Amino acid sequence: MLNLVIFGPPGSGKGTQGVKIAEKYSLEHVSTGDLLRNAIHNNTAEGMIAKSFIDKGELVPDDVIIDIMDVFMEKLPIDKGILFDGFPRTVAQAEALNGLLIDHGRSLSALLNLEVENEELIERLVLRGQTSGRSDDNEETIKKRLEVYEAQTLPVLDYYKKKGVYKSVKGVGDIEEIFTNICQVLDKVVEAEV
Ligand code: AMP
Repeated sequence: MLNLVIFGPPGSGKGTQGVKIAEKYSLEHVSTGDLLRNAIHNNTAEGMIAKSFIDKGELVPDDVIIDIMDVFMEKLPIDKGILFDGFPRTVAQAEALNGLLIDHGRSLSALLNLEVENEELIERLVLRGQTSGRSDDNEETIKKRLEVYEAQTLPVLDYYKKKGVYKSVKGVGDIEEIFTNICQVLDKVVEAEV
């Protein structure tokens, strides 16, 4: 059973490629950003906490995120693989994910990093802001999110490089071409598992 993390800066295409990966490899796609936006939409207590951080481009506190993921994994059938999108975003979350996977009888097959330069990310996110309706897709918040990514999220890569599950693909160009490159990497991960 595959359990994957799709990783990369805001605007790198995690969501777009995540949907395609989840479909091809029959995985449950879980995006913490989507779960938080749903929580905000439904006016839950977690949503209220999350909103103040999301609107500033900051990360929602680790304990809120880890609780949400624990509840999500608890409900999922044990034979269904997971694609984590937007999680983990701090080393503390990566360590917590390790514990959650063990608690739920799973292990991580690979982390797939999408590489995109900052200039391209800003262009994509500003463009997305024109139609996404997201409160954090404006130029000021985008800059903050990229700073937060470099300071708090990038160190997560070293954590997984040390574990030997780090994979990387260029996230620039045609969506289908990027997906083909991703599949080449993931097919090898699948082969290694059987
Ligand atoms: P995303 O949809 O993945 O771009 O996430 C949007 C926003 O939700 C982020 O800028 C954070 O404020 C928050 N968020 C999503 N996932 C996490 C996470 N794993 N840890 C902390 N904050 C998160």
